[in-house]
Amino acid sequence: MVKYLPTIGLEIHIELKTKTKMFCGCLNDSEERHPNVNVCPICLAHPGVLPVINQEAVAAVLKLGLALDAKIASVSKFDRKNYFYPDLPKGYQISQYDQPLVEGGYLEIYLAEKNNVNDLPLTKKIRLRRVHLEEDAGRLNHSDDGKNTYVDFNRAGVPLAELVTEPDIASALEARRFAEELRAILRYLAIANADMEKGEMRCEVNISLASEGSRELGTKVEIKNLNSFRAVEQSIEYEIKRQTEILEGGGKIMHETRGWDEPKGVTVSQRSKEEAHDYRYFPEPDLLPLKPSELFPLEALKVAVPELPFAKRLRFMKEFGLKFGEVDSLVWEPETAVYFEQVISELDSFQPASTKHREKRIKLAYNYFNSDLKGLIAAQLTALKDSKMDSHDFAHLIDFVDKNMISSAAAKAVLAEMFVTGVDPEGIIKEKNLFQISDGKDLSAAIEKIIAANPEVAENYKKGKEGVLQFLVGQVMKETNGRANPEVVLEQIKAALKNN
Ligand code: ADP
Ligand code: ZN
Ligand code: MG
Repeated sequence: MVKYLPTIGLEIHIELKTKTKMFCGCLNDSEERHPNVNVCPICLAHPGVLPVINQEAVAAVLKLGLALDAKIASVSKFDRKNYFYPDLPKGYQISQYDQPLVEGGYLEIYLAEKNNVNDLPLTKKIRLRRVHLEEDAGRLNHSDDGKNTYVDFNRAGVPLAELVTEPDIASALEARRFAEELRAILRYLAIANADMEKGEMRCEVNISLASEGSRELGTKVEIKNLNSFRAVEQSIEYEIKRQTEILEGGGKIMHETRGWDEPKGVTVSQRSKEEAHDYRYFPEPDLLPLKPSELFPLEALKVAVPELPFAKRLRFMKEFGLKFGEVDSLVWEPETAVYFEQVISELDSFQPASTKHREKRIKLAYNYFNSDLKGLIAAQLTALKDSKMDSHDFAHLIDFVDKNMISSAAAKAVLAEMFVTGVDPEGIIKEKNLFQISDGKDLSAAIEKIIAANPEVAENYKKGKEGVLQFLVGQVMKETNGRANPEVVLEQIKAALKNN
């Protein structure tokens, strides 16, 4: 049986987070809920108006190009892409056709951990074709009864970067990883929010299948309306199945555009694919070509590119002794990565530790960070940056846990309170009397009391029933309101029973 392998290329639109729109002085405010307030004669396409290039948007695309190791054009120009749609007042979109700002470059994605945890993970470089600059269209809002459509031009003229990859992607998972990594990079560069659910980043998937070993690519289908990472992944999985079935049945794939029907989990045909010549591209006569390196010193832009998520992961692995899979999500948001790194340096400052003990402390911090803290953030629908808890206090809590000064159950409760109130952990622990009792002297009274109250259990232990010890430990824990250190209690009970 012939095996069919998928080939995938992505086209991704990114709303840039500039102060003003692409060609006029209107505010670029994605949060604005009142329709048609950020509008002017330019973005409403009144006759005779002239566009002016937003340099902040140009700089953002150049920064992205530099971050992705791409080539910055020596000369770049804008073109008109002509089509009619009610949300496009000019009847054309100012875009870039044959001289984009950025060409080439690559983005490296992570695929799997190697067997040996110390080895670098398996990665893949996805080559980029180009990144160009264009303007967004307005938004159509359909009334619930389906009778009316309202148009909101607040988004018309908002700067969009369009990034196009080479067809280097070979699976749904790779495509998802690409989109996630790109979002992280955009956030590190602080040029876009890139929240797919809000339409700030919009992916189109191009996908074809070819029989294994064939030198030619198959006919591709384009999938639109993907507004989450999950939709990117699932629509590709669906399309691979659909196309495989057609090919196995001797059929042909139509060159078409399909939409993703999220509730049904299927792609549906929308129209046959338009070609470039359908748009009658021609150079925008109202704008001069631009020379990026004359507008901006590229060296200075390069310096403004921070350490990117991929490099940060590798550094965290090396410096913190964590695995790739562990540091992976830590670096998705720049604020999270900075916070975690601060926690570790605070933790190091509390107490010098041997390499091994330091790794244990870091692992402890990581576990609280990655499970408990993440849980709090998810439960309260907030972000780490909205919490009042500072990294110093978080590190302090971890230090208390590491030193067995509080139990893990108490630590979780303290963390939940710190997260909301921003009070330091020592304050909360003292106020609630949660410090763990680890000194045997302070526990002996409670232990004696429990043994005296359970003579039969003590007898059973002496007869060799080791299992009953856990019952006694539990009773002591109850007696001390959970503050006793269970390991110490266990040792003390054993000792006490040996002696009496
Ligand atoms: P079109 O002219 O149809 O828009 P392009 O050549 O501009 O096609 O490519 C658009 C996107 O489709 C790019 O991301 C590219 O990598 C991808 N692509 C091109 N050919 C194929 C193919 N045969 N299968 C899958 N993806 C493809
Ligand atoms: Zn305007
Ligand atoms: Mg194209």
